[in-house]
Amino acid sequence: MSVLIATQDWRLRAACRGPQSTVFFPPPRFERKEEKRQRERQAKEICSSCSVLGDCRNHALSRGEQHGIWGGLSENERRSLLDLS
Ligand code: SF4
Repeated sequence: MSVLIATQDWRLRAACRGPQSTVFFPPPRFERKEEKRQRERQAKEICSSCSVLGDCRNHALSRGEQHGIWGGLSENERRSLLDLS
């Protein structure tokens, strides 16, 4: 249990905690392309000043997170990175 807490500790310092977390994932309704672009821009802006960006990105890439912005990268950007490796 303490190992899990230690390895996930970065989440406690995530800049996306709180109400702004909604921009990191698609809404539960149809989202137009421009809405998605704008939402993802907002999320990436928050990521750009996040102190745990590296931990978050590594987590998302190693777990193969399928949805949302993680570590400043979209689903497609993570997929591209994984295809290159
Ligand atoms: S890098 Fe972005 S998605 Fe990851 S914890 Fe920080 S703000 Fe959240």
